[in-house]
Amino acid sequence: MKALVVNCGSSSVKYTLFEMENEKKIAWGLIECIGLPEAFYKRETVKNKETKESVKVANHTEAVELIINELLDKKKGIISDVSEIDVVGHRVAHGGDKFSKSVLVTGKVKEELKDCFSIAPLHNPAHYAGIVAVEKMLPGIPSVLVFDTAFHQTIPDYAYMYALPYDFYERDHIRKYGFHGTSNDYISHRAAVLLNQPLNTLKLITAHLGNGSSITAIENGRAIDTSMGFTPLQGVIMGTRCGDIDPAIIAYLIDQYPEYKDAKTLNDLMNKKSGLAGVSELSADMRDILKAVSGGNKKVQLAFNMLVYSIKKYVSAYYGVLNGADALIFTAGIGENSAPVREAVCKNLNALGIELDVEKNKERSREERFISTSNSKVKIIVIPTNEELMIARESRRVIGNNK
Ligand code: AMP
Repeated sequence: MKALVVNCGSSSVKYTLFEMENEKKIAWGLIECIGLPEAFYKRETVKNKETKESVKVANHTEAVELIINELLDKKKGIISDVSEIDVVGHRVAHGGDKFSKSVLVTGKVKEELKDCFSIAPLHNPAHYAGIVAVEKMLPGIPSVLVFDTAFHQTIPDYAYMYALPYDFYERDHIRKYGFHGTSNDYISHRAAVLLNQPLNTLKLITAHLGNGSSITAIENGRAIDTSMGFTPLQGVIMGTRCGDIDPAIIAYLIDQYPEYKDAKTLNDLMNKKSGLAGVSELSADMRDILKAVSGGNKKVQLAFNMLVYSIKKYVSAYYGVLNGADALIFTAGIGENSAPVREAVCKNLNALGIELDVEKNKERSREERFISTSNSKVKIIVIPTNEELMIARESRRVIGNNK
């Protein structure tokens, strides 16, 4: 059985083709800058090394056509007929409160997804375009939607509500949704295997730290709180996102500056110009930040300290909310690769029973690994995330096909 995982961004299509018998990737790649002269196509298969070239693609339909035709190509391809693909799994950023689990695509589901455009205006229309493009290229092959928000639908109302007048919730569905759900689903299942305990007995705190970052409290396999909110802006400080700020700052900016009168400018400020990049005035990338910290740059040091402190606060809060924790898990680009961030986050959390083995933490590896001391009450684990595989597994589960 083969599963094709598709992730359509506003101007990109990423894909991975899995052979589900052994859960191995057999082809993967992306087309970026769709509709722009600088559009390019990067891909690799188990048969062919990575290649990258400029392409002309006007829209998502043309991008999906190009990808599927190449998968079928006699020389470069990896499948001989589209019928070898049993299911297509689409990553969807925001399912609002309409979708609490993965679903098979039907006409009704597509209409419901359209209802979620307004809460994810950058992502959901692109996902929709991708779904339609795949249907056109692969008629008759089932498609499944896997939502980044679904994992968090178990969060209780007192944690997901904002204390605005109630009708904003009823009318506009303004509430916390949470993101990185597929990643949390994957790493929490892996943690149970590594800890050799059933997931439904575990208290976990996950730190998904990448370009976007979120901390999640998971009790017995169910999310009970997460740091991201109505959008992926809330929570810890990120590469270019400010995370938690006093919301009155927005009213102040609108009041004081003519240029901050519209939603787009304010959204750009908070989502694209803030965070590590905004404070350091240097970079959104943790690798640049770490280099500049060792060079003694004060603003960069401040940005690093702020990011670490914001993560520490959520980890500590969720320890309290869970009334203890079995494990703290680090994942994603920074969580998996940045020993200095993990060390700074775990420093002085021994009151909570979180004790890092500093030497183990420094060992470079791409594998799942424990980095806590043998005495640490809370195990600290690095687990490389694998959202694509989780989407492939979910898609297989939804179509009820385990061949
Ligand atoms: P992601 O969104 O999960 O792809 O994570 C991307 C982020 O991971 C980048 O912005 C980098 O800051 C960070 N990252 C990747 N590799 C490293 C590394 N070796 N050390 C520190 N940070 C890294």
